[in-house]
Amino acid sequence: MPVSGLPPYDPQNVFARILRGELPSKRVHEDEFALAFHDIAPQAPLHVLVIPKGAYVSAADFHATAPEAEIAGFWRAVAKVAKDLGLEQPGYRLLANVGHDAGQEVPHFHVHLFAGKPLGRMLG
Ligand code: 5GP
Repeated sequence: MPVSGLPPYDPQNVFARILRGELPSKRVHEDEFALAFHDIAPQAPLHVLVIPKGAYVSAADFHATAPEAEIAGFWRAVAKVAKDLGLEQPGYRLLANVGHDAGQEVPHFHVHLFAGKPLGRMLG
């Protein structure tokens, strides 16, 4: 569903292809609702992407249109990934880019999970 000017979902985007197993990824978690894998160009010592299995262009699209079970399942997966990677105590940062001004490159909703060092204040 187009939201806030983004185009309709493109089933050939790289994350859709990763979900279908057409492109490789270094997976750290998979369940009914989500897939987590290492970012190909990490911007922190640990940089993992968590994506829903459903076809959503952005956070705006996901939160407006996904069934509640998918939304809950996705965010529980995000928390589980962080916990399983041992990040609750040192801490971590979650970030989602939405649209042009945020620099969203891949039009499949994803959450960046950054960790592995003190990350500073908000925007770099
Ligand atoms: P965005 O700018 O859309 O929020 O973030 C997209 C992220 O996807 C970037 O951090 C980029 O490095 C990552 N990325 C792009 N293509 C691939 C890929 O083929 N594999 C993996 N693992 N990450 C990718």
